[in-house]
Amino acid sequence: MSTMKLKFPFDPLQRSEEVERLVMKNGKRLYYRFRSAPYYGGIATADAVGCSFLCAYCWNYFRNLNPARFDKFYSAQQVALNLLKIARRKSFNLFRITGSEPILGEASLGHLIEVLKDIFHEKPYSVFILETNGFFLGKRLDLIKKLKFENLWIRISLKGVDENSFELVTGAKREFFQYPLIALKELENLGLKAWPAVMRNLFTNDEIARLEKLLAEYKINARLEEEILEEYPFVIENMKKRNVKTRESNL
Ligand code: SF4
Repeated sequence: MSTMKLKFPFDPLQRSEEVERLVMKNGKRLYYRFRSAPYYGGIATADAVGCSFLCAYCWNYFRNLNPARFDKFYSAQQVALNLLKIARRKSFNLFRITGSEPILGEASLGHLIEVLKDIFHEKPYSVFILETNGFFLGKRLDLIKKLKFENLWIRISLKGVDENSFELVTGAKREFFQYPLIALKELENLGLKAWPAVMRNLFTNDEIARLEKLLAEYKINARLEEEILEEYPFVIENMKKRNVKTRESNL
């Protein structure tokens, strides 16, 4: 399979469509690993590939740069089964899909919803943490109601504090900065549990304060979670190449 061509800044909608065509096949999605992870106090985790963005600090950068090099597609039922097995073995009550963007378009959203249905059917009191960049949901607000599950917690990772930092960090065109915020607002309107997160080390106190002001302007009530950068050597290298600096060097 060929490497995807990518010129910065790119149109994330077009990229979402291209990536979804690579990572979805007949309702099945590409995954490369299932594991127990220590985050959130222990969580059954499925690692998938494929994202609408290509963040300079992505810990899955090279897999997301070229998802076509993977070839193992899993049905939603297989994914749920693998996650439930891990949860049973480790006595976990938490689930997630990570390493990628779970919602690239309608096909991947449909796959995710099937995974959620199976997990909540087997373990109704468990919690699924949906880690998403919120881009596609912001573009297609009409689809958000499909995510109405009582124990689904949606964490929207905001990549920038404004259009400039969004474009620099994600590689996606600046005009798409607002979509995750629009998604968050709609999630709150519909009464779903959702909150924003941002990579703290990348921004100054003033920039974070500006983002909080913007969230307030959108009338988003949820508290902003602050993520901490995992400084793997390849992450630092990629950030240098993309001219993304940590907060210490911004101050
Ligand atoms: S949105 Fe997440 S998965 Fe996608 S490139 Fe950025 S950090 Fe990686």
